[in-house]
Amino acid sequence: MTLLDGKQVSNDIKEEIKAEVDKMISKGERVPHLAAVLVGEDGASLTYVGSKVRACERIGFDSTLVKLPASTSEADLLKTVEGLNNNDAIDGYIVQLPLPKHIDEQKVLLAVDPDKDVDGFHPTNFGRMALDMESFIPATPYGIIELLRRNNVDTQGKHTVVIGRSHIVGRPMSILMSQKGNPGNSTVTLTHSRTQNLEAYLREADIVISALGVPEFVKADMVKDGVVIIDVGITRVPDASHPKGYVIKGDVAFDEVSKKASFITPVPGGVGPMTIAMLLKNTLLARERRSN
Ligand code: NAD
Repeated sequence: MTLLDGKQVSNDIKEEIKAEVDKMISKGERVPHLAAVLVGEDGASLTYVGSKVRACERIGFDSTLVKLPASTSEADLLKTVEGLNNNDAIDGYIVQLPLPKHIDEQKVLLAVDPDKDVDGFHPTNFGRMALDMESFIPATPYGIIELLRRNNVDTQGKHTVVIGRSHIVGRPMSILMSQKGNPGNSTVTLTHSRTQNLEAYLREADIVISALGVPEFVKADMVKDGVVIIDVGITRVPDASHPKGYVIKGDVAFDEVSKKASFITPVPGGVGPMTIAMLLKNTLLARERRSN
C-alpha cells in the first residue's frame, strides 16, 4: 500500500510556486495577489479563510481579507464583488461559502469575473473545464488530479467510481477523470444519494473517489483488492478524549480499507492540504494570464 501523502505533495507544489514568486520579485514584477471575501462569523469558514491567507503570506503572495458582517445585504456584497472585479491589483479572489441564507449564492458566484475566479465555480470556468479548454479547475478536484499525477497512479482504462455529485467536488471530478489525458482516460460512474446498490459499483471499482461527508462510510468489504482510494470527506466527530472535543474523520474506514488498497489518501493529510496548494496555483495562473 502506498500512502498518497497530500501534505508532502502540497509542500512540493508550494515550493514550486514560491520559486516562481521569487523570480517575479527578482525581475521587479508584481507578485500574485489573492483576495478572500468572508461574510459572517461561521467558525469553519473563519478557519478555512485564515489558512488560505496564511498560505499566501508564506509563499510571498499579497493577500487581502475582506470581512463583512453577517447582516451584509446581497446588493452590498455584489458591490464588493464588482469592486474586486475592477481592482487591477487583485489577480484572483474567492467568496467563501456558505453565504448567509438571505444572499443568493448563485447570483454572487455569477457576478465574479471568470478571469479572477480562482475557485473555478463560475459556469464559464466549469464549461471550459468540461470542454478541455484553459480554465480554473476547482481546487479540490485539481488537487486530486495532481496527487494522482505525482504518484504515477495509472487511471487509464480504469473504472473510477465517484461518490457524491456536488458542484465543487464530485461532479467536476467525474468530468476530469473521464477526460482524455493522464490522469484521466478513466471509465467513470458518478454515484449519489439516489444511486441504487452503490456497493455493487464500489466492488467493481479500480478507483474510488469519495466525497459524501459520512464518516467511515466505505468499509473494506465494499472494495476490491488493489483499489485506489481518494477520501475527500472531512467530518468533525465529537470525541471528549480529544483536547478539541472532536476528531476529523474521512468517508473511508482507513484502518481496514488501507489493508486492501494499492494507494490511499489519509484524513487528515491527504486531499485537504492539496486544496489550498491548488488555490495558490490557480492564483499564480491568474497572475500569469493577466500579464500575457
Ligand atoms: P455535499 O456535502 O454537498 O454533498 C454530498 C454528496 O454526497 C451529495 O452529492 C449526495 O448525493 C451524496 N450522498 C449523500 N449520501 C449518499 C449515499 N448514501 N450514497 C451515495 N452518495 C451519497 O458534498 P461536498 O461539498 O463535495 O462535500 C463532501 C465531503 O467532502 C464533506 O465531508 C466535505 O467536508 C468534504 N470536502 C473536503 C474538501 C477538502 O478539501 N478535502 C473540499 C470540499 C469538501
